[in-house]
Amino acid sequence: MSAHVADLDALLAGLNEPQREAVVHGEGPLLILAGAGSGKTRVLTHRIAYLVGTGQARPDEILAITFTNKAAQEMRERVELLVGRRTRAMWVMTFHAACARMLRADAHRLGYTRQFTIYDQSDARRLVKRCIDELDIDPKRFTPGAIHHEISDAKNKLRDAEGYGRLVGSFFEQTVADVYKLYEAELHRMNAMDFDDLLVRAVNLMELFPEVRERYARAFRHVLVDEYQDTNHVQYRWLQLIAGEHRNLAVVGDDSQSIYGFRGADIRNILNFEDDFPEAVVIKLEQNYRSTQTILDAANAVIRNNRGQREKDLWTDLGIGDPIKVRELEDEHAEARFVAGEIERLVDEGVSRAELAVFYRTNAQSRVLEDTLVRAQIGYQVIGGTKFYERAEIKDAVAYLTMLVNPQDVVAFTRIANSPRRGIGQTSLSRVISWANTAGITIWEAALEPDSVPGLGTAARKAFHRFMGSMRVLGERAAANPPVAELLREVLAESGYLDALEAERTIEAQGRTENLEELVNVAAEYDATTDLREEPPSLAGFLQQIALVADADGRRDDVGLVTLMTLHNAKGLEYPIVFLLGCEEGIFPHQRAIEEGGLEEERRLAYVGITRAQRDLYMTYARTRAVFGSRSFGARSRFVDEIPVGLTDRNERPAFGVGSVRERATTWGSSPNLSPLGSGPIPGGGWDSGAGGGTGSTEYRLGDDVVHAAFGEGVVTAVEGGGIVVIRFARDRSERKLVADLAPIEKR
Ligand code: ATP
Ligand code: MG
Repeated sequence: MSAHVADLDALLAGLNEPQREAVVHGEGPLLILAGAGSGKTRVLTHRIAYLVGTGQARPDEILAITFTNKAAQEMRERVELLVGRRTRAMWVMTFHAACARMLRADAHRLGYTRQFTIYDQSDARRLVKRCIDELDIDPKRFTPGAIHHEISDAKNKLRDAEGYGRLVGSFFEQTVADVYKLYEAELHRMNAMDFDDLLVRAVNLMELFPEVRERYARAFRHVLVDEYQDTNHVQYRWLQLIAGEHRNLAVVGDDSQSIYGFRGADIRNILNFEDDFPEAVVIKLEQNYRSTQTILDAANAVIRNNRGQREKDLWTDLGIGDPIKVRELEDEHAEARFVAGEIERLVDEGVSRAELAVFYRTNAQSRVLEDTLVRAQIGYQVIGGTKFYERAEIKDAVAYLTMLVNPQDVVAFTRIANSPRRGIGQTSLSRVISWANTAGITIWEAALEPDSVPGLGTAARKAFHRFMGSMRVLGERAAANPPVAELLREVLAESGYLDALEAERTIEAQGRTENLEELVNVAAEYDATTDLREEPPSLAGFLQQIALVADADGRRDDVGLVTLMTLHNAKGLEYPIVFLLGCEEGIFPHQRAIEEGGLEEERRLAYVGITRAQRDLYMTYARTRAVFGSRSFGARSRFVDEIPVGLTDRNERPAFGVGSVRERATTWGSSPNLSPLGSGPIPGGGWDSGAGGGTGSTEYRLGDDVVHAAFGEGVVTAVEGGGIVVIRFARDRSERKLVADLAPIEKR
């Protein structure tokens, strides 16, 4: 079984000293807590190869766990390069996949059959809804989504329905406890498990049946875990059960990259590893092999602002590299055009598209970029997310609009009839559809008069009356040909769609609401560009435009694809050139994080984003951005301002006639809670009544170029109530609040 010595030498040659130490470490716990790009994942893959190569472990004695399917696939490929086909016998997979495999073998011990069903998130939510109905709970008060989220949270903490019930402290929790109990019973009755159950039941199995635990503990003599900082309690427990006895557990992670706190990840699992395993060998890795020194310095400077962060001094010998390009753009369109333009320039220079990645904080941000890339014919792929127009909520909204132009569209009708849930079941829907066919009327007409539909129950008839009541109102509105954005907003409100999402109070629902806001923006853009079209704007024209873009979406290209993804999906990956979009307060950091104390997690996310870049990093922010059809003005992200100016190359507004500046004195944003619109202090500025001159009551607008008698040229960066304007001056880059009517300023 053991490999040639030469192979092993070659294996070790590609490692530095501490990495090698970790790879050759024999039995016993091992912790590598090290910064990004220091070779943690590389150590894991090499360690697996080494254990197998030296005969210390058979391939089937290896259990290697990662977080995402993409990461697992990459790890498997990397190991395969080192040990070849022997990888097949190993378990290199995600927590969920490993647990599912265990349960297929032993679920009967817990009263399930081998053929148990796995419910995905939407199945689970549907079941929660059924339980809510059965218990006669008002679904408006506590939505299925909110309750499911709470149940999932409890499961991740290994708190079962009974345990949860003992600890309730509020009416909401009491409701959850009731639903939780019924939900569990129902799942079991249907021989089904939800995603969380995979972990929980696997833990149950090993806790209740010592012989099962022993079997796995003996089978997997070496357990290795990547991204350990993001494990939650149930995952932690599962690992303890398997590896707690033989203690051959090697974990790698980076506390600075813990970004799944909102899903119950507990950073203490890695920070307290040495309490669980006092004999653990701890290895530090400090050389980064991924990025330039400039990128590393920037990442280190940002993360230093988090309290209680373990200091890690990363260094690289890849050279200083180019400064980080920080770009201020007019709005999100200018931002997307800038990115597309840079991509074209880079590709002309011989860079492959596959070397380029674009990250953003929320899914909705990809839409403007996707539109721009489609127009520029730049091939791209979206990782870990569905392309904008393929998302369920976008398709729903489009189906509503489609129904308003085409009352015969049965597909659209089927899509929206019970979305949001309004008590129109599959059977009733089929009855209405077949009645429309029989009577030779449109589906719209059939639904308008549910009382004529044979076999329809009272409840269903009522539901159709309510639904079509709203649709009729919307139809009348649509007939007046209002701006499409306005109509869409009414559709989302009148249909109850937004309310239903809001009531869910979940991360996913929030994302879907943001996507819908983005669709309103699409419509607003469409409304605004009449001059470029021959026909006046219309709902039908809008739908046609969408259909075309959505179709172009599906295009594939083999000269390499630019990769688009959210920051959360970027963990563990690396790209030569990275664009980080939307570096604005309220976008990134996300508004909710600012309000709810999630800033440190956001900052870790910034650290993850920055450290994905190997050679070049762009950070862009827009002076204004459309949010739900109206413009908002965000300040440059604090994360940009936490990067020392000397590491960056920052553009100025073209009005200043300077391509870029590397020096920045006191400008806005250097104080963490500063917003040019808010009431925070303006460093280097402050109140300035500017007594001594006035220009009458000139109207100032964002972006106006102005001249001040004393400070020279500047640009309006914000307009506040009470006649106050915020101006950034070119000469000393200071930002000052002035009373427009009093200050000696003039528009240029
Ligand atoms: P992250 O924290 O982002 O997950 P990581 O610590 O897992 O990063 P790796 O992805 O393993 O880092 O390594 C980063 C890059 O550096 C990879 O391209 C890897 O192949 C390379 N690398 C790591 N160590 C060495 C080494 N000793 N010699 C050459 N290249 C190395
Ligand atoms: Mg890694």
